[in-house]
Amino acid sequence: MSLKFSVLASGSTGNAIYVETGRARLLVDAGLSAKQMGLLFERANIGEITGLDGILVTHEHSDHIKGIGVMARKFKLPVYANTNTWRAMEGLIGEIPTEQKFEFGMETVRTFGDLEVESFGVSHDAAEPMFYVFHHEGRKLTLMTDTGYVSDRMKGIIRESDSMIIESNHDINMLMMGRYPWNIKRRILGDHGHISNEDCGHALADVIGDKTKNIYLAHLSKDNNMKDIARLAVGQTLESRGFAVGEDIILHDTDASIPTKLALV
Ligand SMILES: [Zn+2]
Ligand SMILES: [Zn+2]
Repeated sequence: MSLKFSVLASGSTGNAIYVETGRARLLVDAGLSAKQMGLLFERANIGEITGLDGILVTHEHSDHIKGIGVMARKFKLPVYANTNTWRAMEGLIGEIPTEQKFEFGMETVRTFGDLEVESFGVSHDAAEPMFYVFHHEGRKLTLMTDTGYVSDRMKGIIRESDSMIIESNHDINMLMMGRYPWNIKRRILGDHGHISNEDCGHALADVIGDKTKNIYLAHLSKDNNMKDIARLAVGQTLESRGFAVGEDIILHDTDASIPTKLALV
């Protein structure tokens, strides 16, 4: 079994996730500059950007697409996104040669070598935001951030993953007490915003299965969250729902600029 991944960077300042098998290498989002992306690849020790089979795009917010245009042109990489995301990001990432532009429809499956990738929609204020589940030799990796809530439909798709990268965006008290203007607070808290640490814990409790082991808390707000607070809040929520955190379930941090160790799913 050889499905591996690294969260290269995660948070409101930029997101990029690397996934590989023996026969496929993919990047999901490139939300930092191409230069910073190069440094992340070096730091993570995951080989050259050149050999990637593609960049999958989740949605057109700048913390997910900042480096895509330059990387795609410089390294001649295929880019995959759904129709509405293509339309929304076209003016933002510059010209991409037609032969490098691919459609990845909502709720479809695409195969890259020996890796199957399934897309699913989330609730977020972008054109057609979607995230991905990766399947390889019976192993399952879920990537889901940037959603205002986790619907039953989404839970059905991400259920019983072996590993998960999931949003734990903010501590509600930090957000409410913080300096953000009310309209921004309302956007973050709304159905098309981001999920809180507690929401994340409850969503996890609903989808964790017998195989689920490693959970990576991702897309933490720089201003309204801290790694310790997120881990504690999600851990306490899971424990209150009967899970043995630290034994059956391991919670991992992600960082805005330090890649997580390349790990087996
Ligand atoms: Zn977003
Ligand atoms: Zn984001």
